[in-house]
Parts: sequence; C-alpha cells; structure tokens
Amino acid sequence: NPGKAKYHPVKDACWTAGQPVPYLALARTLEAVEATSARLKMVDILSNYFRSVIALTPQDLLPSIYLCLNQLGPAYLGLELGVAETYLMKAVGGCTGRSLAQVRAAAQRLGELGAAAQQARAAQRMLCAPAPLQVRKLHAALKDLAAITGQASVNKKISKIQALFVACRHSEAKYLIRSLEGKLRVGLAEQSLLQALALAAARTPPAGPHASCLDRADTMSPDDFKAVVEEHALVIKTTYCECPNYELVVPALLQHGALELPRHCRLTPGIPLKPMLAHPARGVHEIFSRFENEKFTCEWKYDGERAQIHVPGEEAPRLADARIFSRNQEDNTTKYPDVLARLPALLKPTVTSCVLDCEAVAYDPVNKQILPFQVLSTRKRKDASAAEVRVQVCVFVFDLLLLNARALCREPLAERRRLLREHFVESPGTWEFARAQDCSGAEEVQHFLELSVRGSCEGLMVKALHGERAHYDIARRSRNWLKLKKDYLEGGGDSIDAVVIGAYRGRGRRAGRFGGFLLACYDPAGERYQTLCKIGTGFSDRDLDAFTEQLQRHVIDAPRNYYSYETSQAPDVWVEATCVWEVRCADLSLSPAHRAALGLIDRDKGVSLRFPRFVRVREDKRAEEATSAEQIARMYLAQDSVRNNHTAHNMDD
Ligand code: ATP
Repeated sequence: NPGKAKYHPVKDACWTAGQPVPYLALARTLEAVEATSARLKMVDILSNYFRSVIALTPQDLLPSIYLCLNQLGPAYLGLELGVAETYLMKAVGGCTGRSLAQVRAAAQRLGELGAAAQQARAAQRMLCAPAPLQVRKLHAALKDLAAITGQASVNKKISKIQALFVACRHSEAKYLIRSLEGKLRVGLAEQSLLQALALAAARTPPAGPHASCLDRADTMSPDDFKAVVEEHALVIKTTYCECPNYELVVPALLQHGALELPRHCRLTPGIPLKPMLAHPARGVHEIFSRFENEKFTCEWKYDGERAQIHVPGEEAPRLADARIFSRNQEDNTTKYPDVLARLPALLKPTVTSCVLDCEAVAYDPVNKQILPFQVLSTRKRKDASAAEVRVQVCVFVFDLLLLNARALCREPLAERRRLLREHFVESPGTWEFARAQDCSGAEEVQHFLELSVRGSCEGLMVKALHGERAHYDIARRSRNWLKLKKDYLEGGGDSIDAVVIGAYRGRGRRAGRFGGFLLACYDPAGERYQTLCKIGTGFSDRDLDAFTEQLQRHVIDAPRNYYSYETSQAPDVWVEATCVWEVRCADLSLSPAHRAALGLIDRDKGVSLRFPRFVRVREDKRAEEATSAEQIARMYLAQDSVRNNHTAHNMDD
C-alpha cells in the first residue's frame, strides 16, 4: 500500500531532474491518494508530487494537473474521451490474450475494469518492453485519441489504446483505463488539487524571492508557514475562479510565483466563469432573518436559460468574437444568432468589453409576454441560422461582471447595477434589465413576488446590495442570493435535479417502453450516485417514447461500482449516469431502500423522495451537477416536520 509504505514518487519511478516525468510517478501518487480518505493527507501526498514536478520538470506541471483531473484541456471546452467500456475491454483482451467475456468477468469480480486491466497486464510477459510512459506524452496521446472521429475510428482508437496499455507498469494500467473510462475515482476534488498546488508552491516556490528554497517550511515557524499556505491557497483558488484555465494559470505560477498570479491571470472575456448560485428560502420570513439590518434587493426570477455573455475588445468591442455560455460553461454561441445580431443595440459607445450575467427567456413579441421554459427548450441547440429561429427570446440582464477589461466581481451589487444601467441600453422585448425593487418590508416583498408570478416568472431572487456580502461569489452557492419560488409558498420545497441510473420496463399501457426510472443524487465527496427514488409519474406518452429511445443508447451491462443502491430496488436495465431530470415530490423521508445522503442524517437509512413527479429535462446540467447528497440532507432537515428533531452527522452549517 503506497499510502502507508515509504513511497517516493521520484525514487520509485527513477525520475531525474530535467527528464520528462514518468507516468509511474503520477500513478503511484494517485494510488497513495486513493488509499487515504483523509482530505489533508490527500492534499499532502499530491503536493509532494507537485513539489517534485516544480523542482525537477516544471514543464510537466500542466499535463500532471490535467491527468489528475482527468481533463484534456480547459473544462469549458468540454473535451471528452468517451471510450465505451466494451472497446476498452476489447483493447485489454486483445493485448493480454483474453476473450471479451473473460475481461468482463474479471472486471465484475474485481468491481471495476481498471483493476482487472492492471491484473491482466501484470500477468503478461513481454520479450521487449516498450519505452515507459511519460506524463506529457500520455496526455498528448489522450488528446489525440479524443480527436479521432469518423469511419473506422473505433479500430484506430483501440489500437492506440493498446499501444499505451502494453507500455504500462504496475498501477499505470489501472489509472490509464480509468482515465479512458472518464472517471479517475481517487476521491480527488478540484478544490483539493488547488490546495495541493498552493501547499507545493508555498513549500517549493517556483519563482520569486524564495525560489531557491527546497522546503520553505523548514525556514519558518509552523504558525508562520500555515499563514503562508493559507495566503497561497486563497490567491490560487481566487485566480482560478476568475480565470478557470490551467493553460494560463500554470505558466504564470511557474514564471512569477503564486502570489503574483492576480497580476497575470484575470477575468477574461472568452473564458466562462462558473456562475454564482442561490440558496432556497422557504418564505418571506427567512429573507428577513438572513438580511437582518441589511439592505437587500429583489429581482424577478425569470424561467429560461442562463446566458453568460462575453464581449472581448480593446479600443472597441469585438462583436464578431462575442460568446454566449450556458450555466455549465458550454459554448452556446451558435444557439443564439439572433441575440448576437442584436448586441450592438445593448452596448453604449462607452463599452469596449464586458461580461454580462443574464437569463434568456422565450418571448412572444406580439402579445409582449414571457413564455414558459418549455417553449425555449424547443429551440435548436447548436448551429442555428438566424432564419431558423422560430422561438424569440428576450434577454434579461441581471449582472455585470466585467466592464472595459475591469473585473467587477469584488464590487457590491449596487455598484455593478449602477454601471450596468449607465453603460447599457434596454430595448423592450429583446434586452431588458431584470425587474428589481429594493424592498424593506415583508408586505412589499410579498407584493413584488405576486407581481413576478403574474409576470410569468418563477418568483424572486433576493440579493445583498451593499458591502462584501454583495460581491459576486464566482462558482459558489451563496446565502447572499436567496431564491424565493412560488412553489415553496404553495407548500412544496425546491425541486430536485436527479440523475437517471436505471429503468424499469413498462406494463399495461406502457408495455414496450420504459415505464419507470431509478433516480439518484450525486455525492461529490465519495464520487458516487446514490439512489433517491423510483419515479413513474409526470410523464406524457411522448416523454416516455423519447426517454426510452434516449436511454436505450446508454444501457450498460451492470451497475457501475460508483452506483450506491439497495438490491431490492435494482432496475430492469442499468444506464450510464448522463440524463438529469428536474423532479418534485410531496416530501423527503428516511428510507432503508435508498442511499441518498446515507450517513449524513442516519447511519443506516438514506433519504428518499415521496410521490416524486417528473417536471422537465435539465439539459444544462451534467450528471455531476445534479442535486448533491448534502443538498438533499439539508432539504430533508429543512422540512417543518423534521426541524428540531434531528442533528445531522458530518454536516457543518
Ligand atoms: P440550482 O438548482 O443548482 O440552484 P438552477 O439552475 O436549478 O440552480 P435555480 O436555483 O432554480 O437554478 O435558480 C437560479 C437560476 O435562476 C440562475 O441560475 C439563473 O439561471 C436564473 N435566474 C433567473 N432570474 C435571475 C435573476 N434575476 N438573478 C439571478 N438568477 C436568475
């Protein structure tokens, strides 16, 4: 067990200064990370690897980070490997003289293909060993692999995978296969990786006045060193939030040192940010207890699709390079040619570049009316020509994050809003500022909420207006934004975005297609999908036809080892966790039959949804962005019937 033994990434992998980092050094590190569940220990192990890279082969820091995160490039480019499990099994079988059935059986016995691949590779004798894998070459090879498309791509991919596989030593085979599967499953969240990078840069600074220090921790008191690490972590995490592109952050870190990052990597039009998100408020009273003695503002909560609009420019805006990103940083530019064509009307001549946070909403220009989300979802998703646009949209702008190359995230909302109104122009029915009111009393909030519902909105967004609390918290679900939806007032809680992991064959009227589905939430800490409920209500016949066809394409032989479920609930077919559905329920209850939030509320029971019903498909969410186990636990605890009766395990507030 490398986590416990005296494992050394450098000596173990025969890696010397200036040489490309052997993949073995990283694989050993991942093994050690996987062997521990303590976050601090994980960070420590990974930071030691990063320190070695910084000291010996700094140019391999970027591919190392990508391999640790299993990313081929910046997350917002959405580059995916997407090698189907069967092809991986064929590749492993082909190299090791095993049949597909044998590889499949071994994977089932060992719980995963990665472990089976490692075992099969270890049993293989090679007369002439191929050159050892290197981190940089492997990352490049994975990128090449992802770029192979078209006819005969499968065979080309398999032979490329085999060339990599035969060069694997020890646990390299396991991590290679897991990378190709798209899930590394060592329990390493991106925040831990950033913390490890901060610790490494604090101990072995790559640049700056302490650059020659091999271990800066030796030169200071533990308290002083702790403060230095915290400062590094804050700077690195904030920089990465504003500029989520390692291809810019890592070279700047190496060249200028961590503390100089904010001068070199800033919020940049063209690089999408993870948006600020809101917490649900269960009633007007909750808003007042949250914003006691503080000014807040209410905005209508439009029901459309989030649109982050980026306009780059220097002396003048480069409108041709404008981009529109979705809630999860997907490039939606080609979905909205009509919106782009109307951009000039929005920008006053004082604007040279900007980043706007908006909601694109389906709109009926004749009756001057907002239309339901369902209408928006009928628009073509990619490569729409202006002539093809049938559903009109009105874009409601609610925030300004950058103006004329100046990031505004650390300005209070009151100031961002002032600049928005000063430098941009509304055009009724096409560009409008989110309707807002700075309310002071409960009645005012209630009245504005009713107005928003009459205006076809979902309710209100309530936001801090002044001071630090009114900053734009990139990538955070913040209590400085509360969402007050009309549904909460009608007795229901927030809706839940759940992942489909299985399906049950329909009977009677539903025979011949799927009639029910097994839904799960996501637990990022354990990287697992935990079952929440079976669902069979809320679907039209057309929905069932469409979902049957769609899910058939994602059927897998057996449940993934990261699915957490009770065998009594096993579906007729298991599917890959890809589809996210918004669902509502009567309430949440503890259940021995489901595993959602297991251990957070009760040691043996999970949380399950009672009387769930389907609302809509969430195309803008990836499976990992589904409602988390922790959110489910909080929703359970927030119910009137439960409050005060429970203390949650493992949850701070
Ligand atoms: P999650 O469920 O993860 O919180 P979500 O995407 O389901 O996120 P909601 O929580 O329902 O969304 O509400 C937040 C969303 O509301 C934003 O992501 C944005 O798309 C939309 N929205 C509409 N009007 C506004 C507004 N005035 N201010 C902020 N967001 C708004």
